[in-house]
Amino acid sequence: MVLKDWVGLVTGLVISSMVTAQNAVDQKIKRYNKVGNLKVDTSFNSSYLNDFMIPYQEFADLHNCKIKIKNKKLKTTMAARPHFFSLLLGKKNRRYVILVNKNESFKGVHLKDVPSEARVGLFAHELMHIRDYESRKVSGVMERGFQYLSHKGKKKVEHYTDSLTIAAGFGQQLYHWASYVLHDSDACEEYKNFKSEVYMCPVTILSQMEATRPRP
Ligand SMILES: [Zn+2]
Repeated sequence: MVLKDWVGLVTGLVISSMVTAQNAVDQKIKRYNKVGNLKVDTSFNSSYLNDFMIPYQEFADLHNCKIKIKNKKLKTTMAARPHFFSLLLGKKNRRYVILVNKNESFKGVHLKDVPSEARVGLFAHELMHIRDYESRKVSGVMERGFQYLSHKGKKKVEHYTDSLTIAAGFGQQLYHWASYVLHDSDACEEYKNFKSEVYMCPVTILSQMEATRPRP
């Protein structure tokens, strides 16, 4: 081996050991915290977990569900979905993900801008999607997936989820969320139009709260 080959070999070894060391450091950075059956992205944990726990604590039926909260690029503020492959493993092994939009150029509503009470309403709504999935067999969960392919189907699912949120006692917070999106947020007009077509509008939320209020 000539000197040039030795230099090449040593340089290669040094670089590969540096890469390995960097990978080890990356793996040590904790990305999720465990809170009971929740697995929470650390950035969500530090900013929003207290607000999230307000509705979550009320929904005891969801405490046994395995739910992961993670960041993803989305076309909406948040979304709740079943983990597709876990659907094949039986109901006991089902897992869910609640996604938070990390797309900074998104022209809709960014979670960081949402006032606390409205955020609680949004979190309650996302948890109601999971309550809805939990009440369904695999075929029923698949049906939800198909409904999302059409505007009419999407509207039906989102209105139903909003009414579950009201029935669960979070109508006031949902009203704040819906009203913030349409009247106070920096979302573009196109996004606001989409929201008002697909979701319950603030006035409907109030009238449904009134209609379902228990009479003395
Ligand atoms: Zn929804």
